Amino acid sequence: QKPTVIITGASSGLGLAAAKALGQDGDWHVIMACRDFSKAARAAQAQGIPKENYTIMHLDLAAFDSVRQFVENFRNSERRLDVLVCNAAVYLPTAKEPRYTADGYELSVATNHLGHFLLTNLLLEDIQKAPEDSLKRVVIVGSITGNTNTLAGNVPPKADLGDLRGLAAGLDGRHASMINGGDFDGAKAYKDSKVCNMLTVREMHRRLHEKTGVTFSSLYPGCIAETGLFREHYSLFRTLFPPFQKYITKGYVSEDEAGKRLAQVVRDPKLDKSGTYWSWSNDSESFENQVSEEVSDGEKGRKLYDLSMKLLGLK
Ligand code: NDP
Repeated sequence: QKPTVIITGASSGLGLAAAKALGQDGDWHVIMACRDFSKAARAAQAQGIPKENYTIMHLDLAAFDSVRQFVENFRNSERRLDVLVCNAAVYLPTAKEPRYTADGYELSVATNHLGHFLLTNLLLEDIQKAPEDSLKRVVIVGSITGNTNTLAGNVPPKADLGDLRGLAAGLDGRHASMINGGDFDGAKAYKDSKVCNMLTVREMHRRLHEKTGVTFSSLYPGCIAETGLFREHYSLFRTLFPPFQKYITKGYVSEDEAGKRLAQVVRDPKLDKSGTYWSWSNDSESFENQVSEEVSDGEKGRKLYDLSMKLLGLK
């Protein structure tokens, strides 16, 4: 069997571009793990990914039963698993009120962090079973916006998990809808979830890399200003954001280029250092980036990991 990668949220944007980069030449099989099957099918076809190089499987990260069912369906397919890419995300910057999942958690943190945390924990044993010569990786897409050591990360509202009291209280709206227990802010909830993604990578590296042989990494692929991520933003923002990123900050990157960067973290033997946060210079050279103070807080990483395990009923 060919090496297999699961990419969540491969029906648009970065996930789709990475599916294309990995599925084009036939060396890899791509499992597109998506909540909208027909959208994913249309997208894969429009990108011209050869049919024999991908499989679409249903996954709704906002429903933990769906995550568990996905894992069962994947196992029934009897494919090997080499790499898991946690890419899907929602961003609700204009939401005035929190939305909750069927399990009762605030939607952005549930989708972007908790759903992926559950998926990664369940699939770890499958990755460990990959053949000896496999790269065995878990890649969780991070973001500069959750990184307060950058200019973009300092645009208010800033990410801040505080002492995680809101998460500890269940994030179900009865006591809290934000991880730090503060008032709901959709943009901040997204940034917080990205900090969770990056803390998870570092904590999984610390706890599990040596034990499992799996490499855990995160990345910021650049500002892919035209993806569906901004679909809920004001239309004026969506018009002005791409030229602002292209000509003013120069942080802009096309979906194609970002997809190639993510594909590199999946399969490049050189990008094999566990616990790393990868970024790219303007001439598209990868480098190990520095994380923010909050993301480098080992104690917070431990606490987030333990709380997430508890909320998800994992041991
Ligand atoms: P898109 O909105 O284009 O892609 C997000 C994907 O996530 C879509 O396929 C979407 O599915 C999927 N998704 C959303 N909710 C769920 C769910 N409940 N279950 C399963 N899949 C779901 O955005 P991007 O491509 O920009 O975002 C991809 C990743 O890149 C995210 O992790 C984001 O944080 C990160 N990122 C993006 C940057 C940017 O500038 N755009 C910069 C840095 C990081 P559907 O098609 O059905 O809506």
